[in-house]
Amino acid sequence: MTAQTVPAAPTARDLTVTEVRLTPILVADPPLLNTQGVHQPYTPRLIVEIVTADGTTGVGETYGDTTYLEPARPFAEQLEGRKVTDVNALFALLDEVAVAAARVDTAVDVGGLRGVQTADKLRLSIASAFEVACLDALGKTLGLPVHALLGGKLRDTVEYSAYLFCKWAGHPEGVPAEKDDWGAALDPAGVVAQARALKERYGFGSFKLKGGVFPPEEEVAAVRALAEAFPGHPLRLDPNGAWSVETSVEVAEEIGGLLEYLEDPTLGTPAMAEVAARTGVPLATNMCVTTFSEIREAFTTNAVQVVLSDHHYWGGLRNTLHLAAVCRAFGVDVSMHSNTHLGISLAAMTHVASTVPGLHHACDSHYPWQSEDVLTERLTFEDGAVRVSDAPGLGVTLDHDRLAALHRRWLEDDGTLRDRDDAAAMRIADPDWVTPTVPRW
Ligand SMILES: [Mg+2]
Repeated sequence: MTAQTVPAAPTARDLTVTEVRLTPILVADPPLLNTQGVHQPYTPRLIVEIVTADGTTGVGETYGDTTYLEPARPFAEQLEGRKVTDVNALFALLDEVAVAAARVDTAVDVGGLRGVQTADKLRLSIASAFEVACLDALGKTLGLPVHALLGGKLRDTVEYSAYLFCKWAGHPEGVPAEKDDWGAALDPAGVVAQARALKERYGFGSFKLKGGVFPPEEEVAAVRALAEAFPGHPLRLDPNGAWSVETSVEVAEEIGGLLEYLEDPTLGTPAMAEVAARTGVPLATNMCVTTFSEIREAFTTNAVQVVLSDHHYWGGLRNTLHLAAVCRAFGVDVSMHSNTHLGISLAAMTHVASTVPGLHHACDSHYPWQSEDVLTERLTFEDGAVRVSDAPGLGVTLDHDRLAALHRRWLEDDGTLRDRDDAAAMRIADPDWVTPTVPRW
């Protein structure tokens, strides 16, 4: 009898998690102003690496403040032996582990820049980095880009807007900081010059101005100057809820016609609903709709017309798609919010944004403000857009030397920069500064 060759059955790759590495880092940040104060010279981020039994590493990124780091550590310890395909189970596990570690009361940060802070939202912000790392590892193992794991891209590039900030030329004298070459922007001419520079370097076609820094009439003047300098380019203004309903209505009546949308002019869903009803100017938010539980009230009162998703605090890329589906059902547009982030998150944002049907607004990104990254190659903007990678996973490679250097900075910090505090940073320049009560104007 002759021996017959039996074709080998395809072997499944081993997707078991064998190691999880958490690396808190401090990243250089320019002196960007907002209604609470100014960005500190370095901002904390947390880099998550998940290694599987077949030697694949997936990466994710989220907030690095102690509040996020503390629950992330015991969670990471429990992941060994689980699979990167069990993302739903990981979320459930995080709920168990982090409840004990999280020290967040509900609604402790209602005036913050990212809306209400709850223990649930904090857990989702942590989970998002692990979800992205799992998807990155799974994609690399299967040879598929993350967008394919989300159902496939609908576009080859994702458009971003230029994120304009009032800013100082540098951090206060004597504060250790990296220098930036953007110069000061403290009046309409400075804002327009910054917009020109961002457009020149990256090709952005739309502009968002972070407001709530100067009295509304000065920010109205800046928007008018932008409209004059860039006719036909979509403009947005975001004072982070710093205005009363009356002020919001006045601003909307003055410059509503120049704006693609007005972002969080005032705080809270009832106030936003009143502004929307009285002005008809489209309102966007990353403050009054930041969790699924806030959707019903906001959508049924027509308080917002655009929800700015953020995969970090919505709990990852799949939840971002769930949010987009709910928005679609209510005829509410969806776009993307940004907090200070690095290339891992920009890649994740780009993958998920490429899969969202009917994305009518350019997404926000702080990335041009971040001169440092942990990747071997920075992501680039062309004509204001990022190309959607078809490489396996997120399509990015971690630079371990850079990661180690930024981690060393975190280790060497005496604790003052490990938790972002824009008001504390402002007090260095202005010792009398207190976080303004809202509404400020
Ligand atoms: Mg905002």
